[in-house]
Amino acid sequence: MTKIGFLQLNSCSGCMFAVLGSAIFPELLKSADIQVFRLISDIQSEDHLDVVFVEGGVTCNEDAELLRRLWTEGTKIIALGSCAVLGGIMSQSPNMHIDPVNKFVDPHSSLPGCPPPRRLLGNLLLSAIDGSEFELPEKNVCWECPFAQDQTYEIEITSLHSTHSPKSCFLREGILCLGPITRAGCEAHCIKGSTPCDGCMGVLNGNLPAAIANLFSVLKVSETIREYAELAFRYQKPELKLKH
Ligand code: SF4
Ligand code: SF4
Ligand code: SF4
Repeated sequence: MTKIGFLQLNSCSGCMFAVLGSAIFPELLKSADIQVFRLISDIQSEDHLDVVFVEGGVTCNEDAELLRRLWTEGTKIIALGSCAVLGGIMSQSPNMHIDPVNKFVDPHSSLPGCPPPRRLLGNLLLSAIDGSEFELPEKNVCWECPFAQDQTYEIEITSLHSTHSPKSCFLREGILCLGPITRAGCEAHCIKGSTPCDGCMGVLNGNLPAAIANLFSVLKVSETIREYAELAFRYQKPELKLKH
């Protein structure tokens, strides 16, 4: 039986609750030997795991050393959620330094999202049971969005938030939506819930500053929005700052 761990670093537990709520989790309980899962058991053993799902970012040497030890022992490390994959929303903290998992080890696979989207999470959990390959979509959120047909880059973007259900692409309504540069997989979850995409799946090419700069170079973005450009970096701390 595959020995699996669900490890929580600096996190909010949202990704782990998504695991617990996944339709495939009952199957995982039957088919795998879960050795670590703080939310459901006090008994934890991080020794000789085959697979470990890691939620949250790395904030201390102990976390980094644990990841390195698991990696050295041959455990497949799977980064789960935007905090583990990108640094996430908590990496914006002015009081704490938080790094993604891949700064310390090379994950076997990664699934961003805050929390990760249900369908992809099911596929990822399944891959831990049957050894199947897990792949992220190489398309953007617009590809999954019901409003893709009426997208335009011609309207000035003056707002970051929607106050109503969209009848068309947010960009057509002058609201910033990061769907064009954000990796698909969530089935345009937020847009269907009347909220523009703020990029929780991360950018497609992995280079956030370049993707944001490219998007802002083709969109007409008001000066007010440019002053709040940090909002565009919500899930991944930029190494470069945009020039306003
Ligand atoms: S990715 Fe989001 S849901 Fe998951 S631990 Fe980080 S903040 Fe919580
Ligand atoms: S920009 Fe946003 S609202 Fe417009 S098509 Fe893309 S995901 Fe949908
Ligand atoms: S629409 Fe954007 S912010 Fe919302 S879940 Fe999808 S990728 Fe994340």
